[in-house]
Amino acid sequence: MPAVVTYWAEHAWLPGADAPAVAPEVLIEAGPDGRITAVTPRSGPCPAGAVRLAGLTLPGQANAHSHAFHRALRGAVQVGSGTFWTWRDTMYQVAAALDPDRYLALATAVYAEMALAGITAVGEFHYLHHAPGGVRYADPNAMGAALVEAAARAGIRITLLDTCYLSAGFGAAPTEPQLRFSDGDADAWAARADALKDTGHARIGAAVHSVRAVPAEQLDTVAHWAAVRRAPLHVHLSEQTAENEACLAAHGVTPTRLLADHGVLGPRTSAVHATHLTEEDQRLLAGSGTTVCMCPTTERDLADGIGPARRLASLGSPISLGSDSHAVIDPFEEARALELDERLRTRTRGHWTAAELLRAGTEDGHASLGWPEAGRLAAGALADFCTIALDSVRTAGPGPELGAETAVFAASAADVRHLVVGGRHVVADGVHLGVPDVGRALVEAISALR
Ligand SMILES: [Zn+2]
Repeated sequence: MPAVVTYWAEHAWLPGADAPAVAPEVLIEAGPDGRITAVTPRSGPCPAGAVRLAGLTLPGQANAHSHAFHRALRGAVQVGSGTFWTWRDTMYQVAAALDPDRYLALATAVYAEMALAGITAVGEFHYLHHAPGGVRYADPNAMGAALVEAAARAGIRITLLDTCYLSAGFGAAPTEPQLRFSDGDADAWAARADALKDTGHARIGAAVHSVRAVPAEQLDTVAHWAAVRRAPLHVHLSEQTAENEACLAAHGVTPTRLLADHGVLGPRTSAVHATHLTEEDQRLLAGSGTTVCMCPTTERDLADGIGPARRLASLGSPISLGSDSHAVIDPFEEARALELDERLRTRTRGHWTAAELLRAGTEDGHASLGWPEAGRLAAGALADFCTIALDSVRTAGPGPELGAETAVFAASAADVRHLVVGGRHVVADGVHLGVPDVGRALVEAISALR
């Protein structure tokens, strides 16, 4: 890689003294360490030697909540009706067909799809640890290693959120599908997770699958592990009212209160979904600095409900966004859904600005994944960015000064023309440079599971 790569952005969304704004004709220099060394306005055409990025350049999108193998369910779970719980049965069938090689192929294709959608970092909430029946692989982290390698092949960053998943429900031993998820107890989970190390493109975090899946007295062990490593800690929270009811029956408190009492909440923690919360739950999350990761396209797909994201943000929780089950992979759809769902719920408009929604998908999303040095176009930040076309059938018309509003409320993943990660061009003119036919890769990886 040359010492410095210079990108010329036709328009770029830059942090400002008052608020971020779209600036015309900006040079973005990426140094050999993969960080931005300078962001400079430069009027006139693209200079010789610079890489031209036509359209609007944004910070890279952070997909803060992913289960890569759920991508194989797309379409298949839209036949008939069913519930969250029947959806989960189908998901377990797909999981049963995966081994490290198949997961490497599938996740490589899925992460390449993410790259094409403008995503530069993914938070993989990973619990499919073991072989069928719970048999350990020769490398007990073979599945996690496959995900880390997949992200490298797809050219994006990953935070592997190694997930503790021990029980089928409150006080219930794991059943057949869940044997692959369980390490036995939280100490054994921690011992296995200890062997995972950060690399250039990958950071290791922890996750509590849910209060259903980790017994209360073992939550502290996971929280302690993350605290010692200063690692991100994620947890599924109150996606379904059934979880709240079972938690109240087992412990006499809400899931949020249980997590708070066992040290799980805090500024390095992200609570995923947080759909059905009491007033006290909301204050516990915001007061502890816990990020709330909303996954609107999955939450609508699974008929979960609309979480109180606006209220949580107003109380002080940072918000991040994830595509979770990958019913679709489109960070712009996730962002606008936050506002549009709120409009339907309240029958009023204007809850979030486009800038606030872009911040959730970029800077706050990266912070939620333990990459606080990414998510903004500024000197010193990681040189991770994406460029959307402003002349597609979806985005043409509004002036570039409305670029943020156009990106959030009109653009789709199909409008992403370029992706740069660590200064390296990963997607150019809409083509993935490492996985040339992503559609074909998805077909092959998914059909291998049938
Ligand atoms: Zn999830």
